[in-house]
Amino acid sequence: EVTIQQVNKRFGTKHVLSDIDVSIASGQCVALVGPSGSGKTTLLRLIAGLERVTSGMIQFGDRDVTVLSPNQRGVTMMFQRSLLFPHLNVEQNIRLGAKQLTPIELESWLHRVGLEGRGKSAVHELSGGEQQRASLARALASQPDFLLLDEPFSSLDVPRRRELRTLIRKLTEEQGVTTLLVTHDREEAMAMADVVYVLEHGRIVDHGTPITLSQTSPFFGEGIQIEETW
Ligand code: ATP
Repeated sequence: EVTIQQVNKRFGTKHVLSDIDVSIASGQCVALVGPSGSGKTTLLRLIAGLERVTSGMIQFGDRDVTVLSPNQRGVTMMFQRSLLFPHLNVEQNIRLGAKQLTPIELESWLHRVGLEGRGKSAVHELSGGEQQRASLARALASQPDFLLLDEPFSSLDVPRRRELRTLIRKLTEEQGVTTLLVTHDREEAMAMADVVYVLEHGRIVDHGTPITLSQTSPFFGEGIQIEETW
C-alpha cells in the first residue's frame, strides 16, 4: 500500500500542492486526473523522490520513504515519450532495468509486449507505439513494486492508446504491480483505474471508483462512457 499524507509542496512562494491525501492499495491502479497546471506531475515527482516534499509524509507499506532517494524507493517511472536510449538496441534497453535477465526471460518480455524477434532492432526502427511497449517491458522487467505512469499514451493515436492501456492493465495485474497513472484525460482515467483522484489547483477535490464518480462528480458527469477494454 502507498500512503500520501498531508503532503504540501511549495516552489518559493508558489503553493503547488496543498494537504494531499492519497492512498493506493497494493496491486491497484489509481489515476490522478486534473487540468494542466493542477500539480499532477509534481505529485508524481514527489512520490518518485525526484523532488522533496515541503511537508507531509509518503509511505510505501510501513516504510517511510519521504526523504529517501529515488533508487532507494523501488519505483519505476514511464513517461509521455519513451526514454529509450537511442544508441542501444531494444534488448540492451530492456536489460538496463534488469541486468540479470536470461536470454529466455528477455525473449519472454519481448513476446509479452508484442515485440518478439525485435530485440536487436535499433530504437529508431520502432514506431512510437512499439517504443512505448519496449519502455513498458523495460519498466516491468525491473520488477518494480510500484509503477508511475506520466501520460504514457499522449504521443499515440487512439487505437495504439487502447492497445497500450489494455496491455498495461494486463501485465500489471499479472505481476501485482501497484500503479499510479497521471493523465489529463478523464476517459482514460475512468477506463484504466480502480480508483480516480481529481486534482484542481493543487488540491484533491474528489475521489472514488469510476462508477461512483460518473454518478456523483460534476467533473465527470454525462457523456463519459466507461469502456470495457479488458
Ligand atoms: P500538465 O498536465 O500541464 O503537465 P500538471 O498538472 O502536471 O500539468 P505540474 O507540472 O505539476 O502540473 O505543475 C503545477 C504547477 O507547479 C505549475 O503552476 C507549474 O508552473 C509549477 N511548477 C512545477 N515545477 C516547478 C518548479 N520546479 N519551479 C517552480 N514552479 C514549478
